[in-house]
Amino acid sequence: MQLDIQTLAVVTVFVTALLGALLVFAGLQNRDVRAPMMWGSSYIVSAVGLALLTTHGSSPDFIAIDIANALVLLGFGLTWAGARMFDQRPVRPMLVLAAPVLWLVACRIPAFTQDINLGVVLLSAMLAMLAAVTAEEFWTGRDEPLMSRWPTVVVLLAYGAALLARIPATLLSSSLEGQTLMHGVSFAVIAFGTLLFTVVMAFLLLNMTKERTELQHKIASLIDPLSGVPNRRAFLEGSARLLKQQADDNEPLAIFLFDLDRFKMINDQLGHGVGDKVLQLFADTATATLGRDILFGRIGGEEFAAVFPVGDFGEATAIADRVRRNFAVAAAPHGSMDLTPTVSVGVTIGRDPKVEIKSLLALADQALYRAKANGRNRVETTASGATAVAQEMPVIDIDMRRAWRTAAARV
Ligand code: GH3
Ligand code: MG
Ligand code: MG
Repeated sequence: MQLDIQTLAVVTVFVTALLGALLVFAGLQNRDVRAPMMWGSSYIVSAVGLALLTTHGSSPDFIAIDIANALVLLGFGLTWAGARMFDQRPVRPMLVLAAPVLWLVACRIPAFTQDINLGVVLLSAMLAMLAAVTAEEFWTGRDEPLMSRWPTVVVLLAYGAALLARIPATLLSSSLEGQTLMHGVSFAVIAFGTLLFTVVMAFLLLNMTKERTELQHKIASLIDPLSGVPNRRAFLEGSARLLKQQADDNEPLAIFLFDLDRFKMINDQLGHGVGDKVLQLFADTATATLGRDILFGRIGGEEFAAVFPVGDFGEATAIADRVRRNFAVAAAPHGSMDLTPTVSVGVTIGRDPKVEIKSLLALADQALYRAKANGRNRVETTASGATAVAQEMPVIDIDMRRAWRTAAARV
């Protein structure tokens, strides 16, 4: 089969420009994810470069070779910049410009321009390097669960490898002798490969942007906006999952129920704003005391809960008391002479694999009730042998723990 280079080149230019416009459009739709704008610009810059490349023969070499390839390199650099932007890393404009500037400088050296093979080698090496560093950016952000990251890394590395393979092929063959950068079978294959790469990459980049938006929405539905910790729905789903896992491992699970003391009075006497600050302070103090790996969430107005594997009641009570004391110290400056924010804690331990989280929370609630009755600002426990009337609580099946960890890192 013969590939007509001119036709292929024109198709590549228009497809690249069109995909660039689509990426810019995707960027305009969601201002929170700015990378598609950068990727769209990279496609448009590349399209201009490729268009200039097709003018070879009818326009000066400075335009059709020097500037054209510099723009293609700049396009690749912008794709790399977009990948950094996508993962909230700083864009480095000097490095984006490095490859095109190096190319333009090389084009001013007579010994370089006289040997067409050197041009092919330098271009291929720089494009391969840019593809590799872009792949590395996407790889570095792999903790964020976006499916499209993986094929993107593979496609970039495959394209980079194909470009690198072109170097020995160019140096070994003399087929390019007397030809220009954009002629010959080798160019047809590269042009066809580039067209496929351009289309697949645009699809993957658009998909990754869509997945990021969906993940943000999912996270927003799982995180309490005031305190930044998992909300009730996320907490219940995560704790049901933990309970199942612990039952499989046959390890006891501690359940803490926290309720801020006389919170209505704090609101009434010190104002709702101070109340909100105290809620945030409690979430921060508990998270810092319990550690990030422990499932902790806000399950009601001034009620929080935590679930985690524990050795015995003694250990669980000591941890709960540490949270209580740390909060009393941290919140003291926010109180008044006769009203200091404190917290009461109900603790229970789940050992029975058949027990559901709602039953354990009901037991912890019994302990909490006693903590309130016994004067507040204290920890009480209920053994899981006690009976409890379980409240109805919905359990939703989603991978909460993973999502909330990502949320903690991003939101
Ligand atoms: P107790 O020591 O027995 O727990 O008494 P309490 O006043 O803490 O309990 P109560 O249930 O009577 O009051 C809880 C208060 O928490 C009432 C409600 O206005 C307040 N509250 C719930 N959500 C928020 C919130 O997001 N911000 C603020 N500032 N207050 C809230
Ligand atoms: Mg309450
Ligand atoms: Mg309360």
